[in-house]
Amino acid sequence: MFTDIHSPVQQLKHPILQQLWIKRDDLIDPYISGNKWRKLKYLLSKAKKENKHHLVTFGGAYSNHLLATAAAASRAGLKSTAFVRGETVKNEMLMLCQLFGMTLLFVDRTSYKNKTSLFEQHFGDDPNAFFIDEGGAGMEALTGCAEIIAELPEATDHIFCAAGTGTTAAGLLKGIHERGLKTILHVVPALKGGEFIADEIFKYLGHTHQLILHTDYHFGGYAKTKPELIDFIKSFVSSQGVLIDPVYTAKMMYAIDDLSKRNYFKKEEKIIAIHTGGLMGILGMKDKF
Ligand SMILES: *Cc1c(COP(=O)(O)O)cnc(C)c1O
Repeated sequence: MFTDIHSPVQQLKHPILQQLWIKRDDLIDPYISGNKWRKLKYLLSKAKKENKHHLVTFGGAYSNHLLATAAAASRAGLKSTAFVRGETVKNEMLMLCQLFGMTLLFVDRTSYKNKTSLFEQHFGDDPNAFFIDEGGAGMEALTGCAEIIAELPEATDHIFCAAGTGTTAAGLLKGIHERGLKTILHVVPALKGGEFIADEIFKYLGHTHQLILHTDYHFGGYAKTKPELIDFIKSFVSSQGVLIDPVYTAKMMYAIDDLSKRNYFKKEEKIIAIHTGGLMGILGMKDKF
């Protein structure tokens, strides 16, 4: 399942930028999509190698990571369990997780904070249980995300990605350095106070060379939107035929568009936006459209 993938690089229409492209990691799989596929790739082979049959992970009630883990587990013939942050709820995402066979355990926000102790309490004596951190964070995730760089043209001036924890961004930057490229990585945090993303990347890599953070495109915070963002999504999706989501990829595309209007780029520079997928989450925001 983690061998050949379909993730083309496609050109976008843009009134200013002549070389704006998008890496369609959203097309890898509808459920194990985008960066979640990249992050799980080496975690799943590690679980297989260690002969673990039960993936145990963590996430919020609208987590793309939970859905990706549920779908990946069922396809690989593994069991999956998720600790879900907060009170018991029902929604489209969790319904899909359960359809893929995932067991959901709702835990209050305080207990949720200590993930290793939750794991130990519930699965400490299950030799089959395999711990996967929230969002799939860790070195395996970096290795998987770094591989995106090898699938892009070397002469790329700017790569853009959206960030929640910064793990994907760290992997991309690792890939850029490993290949000795001059490309600049631009990261658009999806949450307020996104400066911490640079610290996270530093913790992984020990440097932040060729990294630029754009922290002013959070639209009020994580999963928050504003009418300008919703209007932007409507016009982007209808004119480009590529779906983006309000939580992550729309904020990244908006940032590129806004920066281009401020003459941030030379109009012939090659820019590639990474479509990190996660489109099922838009179902939870249907009232905004
Ligand atoms: C989870 C997710 C991100 C954030 O990835 P991080 O590695 O946590 O920064 C970005 N885009 C989409 C679509 C996601 O689902």
